[in-house]
Amino acid sequence: MKYISTRGQSPASSFSEILLGGLAPDGGLYLPETYPKFTNADLTAMRGMNYPDLAFAILSRLIDDIPPTDLKAIIDKTYRADVYAYARSGQNAADITPTLKLEDNLYLLSLSNGPTLAFKDMAMQLLGNLFEYVLTKTGKTTNILGATSGDTGSAAEYAMRGKKGIRVFMLSPHKKMSRFQTAQMFSLQDENIFNIAVNGVFDDCQDMVKAVSNDADFKAKYKIGAVNSINWGRIVAQVVYYFKGYFAVTANNAQQVSFSVPSGNFGNVCAGHIARMMGLPIDKLVVATNENDVLDEFFKTGAYRPRGSANTYHTSSPSMDISKASNFERFVFDLVGRDSAKVRELWGSVDKGGAFDIKQLLPKLADYGFISGSSNHANRMKTIRETKAKYNVVIDTHTADGLKVAMELREADVPMIVLETALPAKFEDAIVEALGEVPERPADLSGIENLPQKFTVMEADVAAIKEFIVKHV
Ligand SMILES: *Cc1c(COP(=O)(O)O)cnc(C)c1O
Repeated sequence: MKYISTRGQSPASSFSEILLGGLAPDGGLYLPETYPKFTNADLTAMRGMNYPDLAFAILSRLIDDIPPTDLKAIIDKTYRADVYAYARSGQNAADITPTLKLEDNLYLLSLSNGPTLAFKDMAMQLLGNLFEYVLTKTGKTTNILGATSGDTGSAAEYAMRGKKGIRVFMLSPHKKMSRFQTAQMFSLQDENIFNIAVNGVFDDCQDMVKAVSNDADFKAKYKIGAVNSINWGRIVAQVVYYFKGYFAVTANNAQQVSFSVPSGNFGNVCAGHIARMMGLPIDKLVVATNENDVLDEFFKTGAYRPRGSANTYHTSSPSMDISKASNFERFVFDLVGRDSAKVRELWGSVDKGGAFDIKQLLPKLADYGFISGSSNHANRMKTIRETKAKYNVVIDTHTADGLKVAMELREADVPMIVLETALPAKFEDAIVEALGEVPERPADLSGIENLPQKFTVMEADVAAIKEFIVKHV
């Protein structure tokens, strides 16, 4: 299996070659040359599998340059009940992504039972083990540089802590993450984890990362790597739980289900698109946005108008506050019939801060099953309250966006699975606002805010972060 770039001007590469990088050299994103397709008989065989076996059945079709026994060992080490231990009471942690039935034909898929209580652990934990394997094999090392507003940074650090050949330098806006997120990251004492609190906002952190990455000499000399959401290894890991969720709520492969996905960078729902391309019987993929509704506008009108970071709203579902959906190009590549010249033309304008309109392709959008809706702060609060009252289940603000849109768009006879992208404990203040009570927190995380913290405060200055990296590698 070779991987090609959406912009069509990078050589086809193997999985291991693209694993450690982000963008393809031509500025595009990697996708498999063709999507492997599961037959009805394959699906039947996969139906009874546990999570690691299912993950192997899917990933071994997309990763062919790691020996199967090694790949299986990496997967078995990643998807263990003790790693996804924050399952709700009554759920089986060994299911890794258990489903929770709210009512007939309405389910939550619990993706947030990993160490940092958000779905990003599902992919990042695999990435950590894959990175370590590939680096050990080649005798190489990497210094991961990233920027986070909370969820990505913590997931990356918990996946990479203590790993051989890997250091993590994670920039976050000083005093702007939730207290819980800050404590999760800053309480890590591992020698290979460096938390840098930048005097500024998230975009300042992001700009520093971009500036360092654009310095090709520095990047090569200090082996700067990335784990941002365009990394193919993250997308591929997320394909698996769409299959797991499908099998959990259906009895045979003639049935279809729909998924509602709280979306920001379009990574999660892109994995759903790939699951469908591989033969999973998906009816609708519901793209749920918050007030930052650029994607909702696209799926309704065919116009893609990224807003720019200055016009991004700060909301109570902050992990979906994006100005530009970085994985969206992957889907559009398929939508335009894998015409890379067309993608170059469309993103030629996006990369300059512009927009594009492909409303002539709206009928094709329906063929791919995409529909969309948006949610706002009042909707979230109401959905959290109603979900508690009706089902006695507390959900977080991002999942609430997904559920709100799912309720509007679901069809009577088609099971709707809402992806739970974080546990409520991660966003305490918003839950207190909605319910007037503090959400339940896993016992071993109580008092995490009181642990000693290890971090360095820095000005939003590219020279300062470079100097810091030089000093610590
Ligand atoms: C990252 C994140 C999202 C958005 O996921 P994308 O893959 O960027 O679309 C939604 N909810 C939570 C809690 C997240 O951390």
